[in-house]
Amino acid sequence: KYFPLKRTITEFLTRKEQKFVKAVDDISFTIKKGETLGLVGESGSGKTTTGRMVLRLLEPTSGTIKINDIDITSLTSEELRKFRKKIQIIFQDPMAALNPYMKIGEAIRHALKIHKIGENYTEQKQIVYDIMERVNLKPAEQYYNRYPRDLSGGQRQRVVIARALVLKPEFIVADEAIAMLDVSVRSQLLKLMIDLKEEFNLTYLFITHDLATTKYICDRIAVMYLGKIVEIGTFEDIYRNPAHPYTKALISAVPEPDPKLKKQKIIPQGEVPNAVNPPKGCRFHPRCPYAMDICKIEEPQTIKLDEQHEVNCHLFNKK
Ligand code: SF4
Repeated sequence: KYFPLKRTITEFLTRKEQKFVKAVDDISFTIKKGETLGLVGESGSGKTTTGRMVLRLLEPTSGTIKINDIDITSLTSEELRKFRKKIQIIFQDPMAALNPYMKIGEAIRHALKIHKIGENYTEQKQIVYDIMERVNLKPAEQYYNRYPRDLSGGQRQRVVIARALVLKPEFIVADEAIAMLDVSVRSQLLKLMIDLKEEFNLTYLFITHDLATTKYICDRIAVMYLGKIVEIGTFEDIYRNPAHPYTKALISAVPEPDPKLKKQKIIPQGEVPNAVNPPKGCRFHPRCPYAMDICKIEEPQTIKLDEQHEVNCHLFNKK
């Protein structure tokens, strides 16, 4: 086990209602070394909070997050600095992630300076050139002195990827990393991320609201709804044999290129409820077409369907 996250809860105080909201409520999952786990759900499902907890950019209220058997929730700030070299995050908006007044080459070199990598300026610059070329910002010397505003959205995201990779991390949290890009650029960046994973032996937590993207990159998928993981399984489990009604609804919304393969569309009723006052019992019950009386009272437990496939739904309760 490379990365187990156990019974983790994260609460925030909302500005408007001044109430605690459990953005992530008692979730557990494990990521194996070299694998890509997709974390899928609508906005407000808790997937971004989960991604930030992994880097300890957010503190969980309770629970443990272990990486290579080290519980990162107990690291001191110096230990945390060293640990952050191994784990990097790629955010959705590269413009916001980059300093607009810093040349992109310097922005990448800055990461090396912080982590004291490279003997001197010349050596660091060469390391930056190499990684820039690898993410297709080439010739690197023509890009090094440009500012983020001089680049396209796709090129800026390549800079952010280069800045993450230059530290030779083991694990990358990609938080909607390609969501803001044009469709054609999106597929190029996705291919780049897949190639880099092989080359650098990376492990990914791939956060997305777009289930369709996961089919190209994810080995397993966890589906989140209102702070809970409602289903987790291999790519095949989730795509070919989805169990949870919410997963089925997400799958039915993925466009099918083959017109012969007609899918029945499942549309959940109503809007996503407010996370400050989540529904009792199963949180999906107000929108679920299969809701039963028990669903309104009792929270469903995790049920193992097979080796890697788990679901939280009363429909699978054999009692
Ligand atoms: Fe629907 Fe009940 Fe299953 Fe929730 S537990 S998804 S309400 S059937």
